[in-house]
Amino acid sequence: MKITGIEAIVCHARMRNWIFVKVQTDQPGLWGWGEATLEWHTRSVVGAIEDLATLLIGEDPRRIEHLWQMMYRQHFWHGNGIVRGTAISGIDIALWDILGKIQGVPCHELWGGRVRDYIRLYSHLGGGKMEDFYETDPEDASRFGELAHQAVEEGFTAFKSMAVPETMVLEGLKPVRYAEACVRSMREAVGDDIDIMVDCHARPSPRMGMLFAKALEPYNLYFFEEPCWPETMDDIAAIQQAVKTPIASGERLTGIHAFRDMLEKRAVSVIQPDITHCGGLSEVRKIAALAEAYRVAIAPHNPQGPVSTAASIEFGFSSSSYLICESVHQDVPWRDEVVREGFTVEKEGRIVRPNQKPGLGIEIDEAVVKKHPFEQEVLQRSFYPDGSVGDW
Ligand SMILES: [Mg+2]
Repeated sequence: MKITGIEAIVCHARMRNWIFVKVQTDQPGLWGWGEATLEWHTRSVVGAIEDLATLLIGEDPRRIEHLWQMMYRQHFWHGNGIVRGTAISGIDIALWDILGKIQGVPCHELWGGRVRDYIRLYSHLGGGKMEDFYETDPEDASRFGELAHQAVEEGFTAFKSMAVPETMVLEGLKPVRYAEACVRSMREAVGDDIDIMVDCHARPSPRMGMLFAKALEPYNLYFFEEPCWPETMDDIAAIQQAVKTPIASGERLTGIHAFRDMLEKRAVSVIQPDITHCGGLSEVRKIAALAEAYRVAIAPHNPQGPVSTAASIEFGFSSSSYLICESVHQDVPWRDEVVREGFTVEKEGRIVRPNQKPGLGIEIDEAVVKKHPFEQEVLQRSFYPDGSVGDW
């Protein structure tokens, strides 16, 4: 059995271009789907997939670990940068889809079988609609409460918000009070039984991250995400040690070595590898083994397209440390037209029941994808009031 083609298929989905990866084999009707979406780096990743394809054409798609080692270690430069890491991930996910199809079982059955009956989904405030999640008016904390109420009405028992505003390296009380007001508004809207998460997008400096973490501690967040840059991992660890709130991070990390460092520093209570960036399903399973040694939870980053979600779900059904699956459902109105999914989502509680179909259990409708060709993503440029560059 041979790999005969590796194709990156781009589907413009407003804030992102989804990059689907289709790995073809010499067996009629046998191919696999992966995803390598990397916002604002679409052309780079498509090029990286083309470069990696030169290594893999003619190889046996069933030798996934061997091919992963080739993709990561050959061509001299290791695959731990975000662009090549994403390209490797997309191909790796597709190879696992192929292997599941060959064996006639869902991927989670290849990895030791099902460890749970269902997976809980959490939503973005506004369901992933860009304006509601990223652009809520800083003067309008009550809007957070309204959107939180809406998430619960839609069946979710957990949701994530961006209640921490962009701040310069040091600012006074105003942004901290604003974040408190937003979180208070959400907690009052939904009560104590709903899990609220706050994502800082690594915008704050270490000290601002500490101030926000301390201020929000009384609201008992489910987790508090990326309180400062991952480049300053010791500061994330200091924040985790200073508050009882579980700290989460890891969506920008690739490979086991970066996660090893994060875990050794006891920096977080939740790691958030992105299966489409960290090295794919092969690497996230190794990261999960590391996390298990530290009894740290895994909640993969997953705001991208439907192949990423299917991969996260298959992984979640096989990983005991898996906590919850990030999901977006209102990023584009035609999301459901692009994919047929093998798993089912129960509206009450937004829980996912396992896929029974082989591989990832999905099929992508390429005719629908063709209706949404590449477009430049909406540019996200962030500047502080004095004109200096900020973090988005
Ligand atoms: Mg995040």
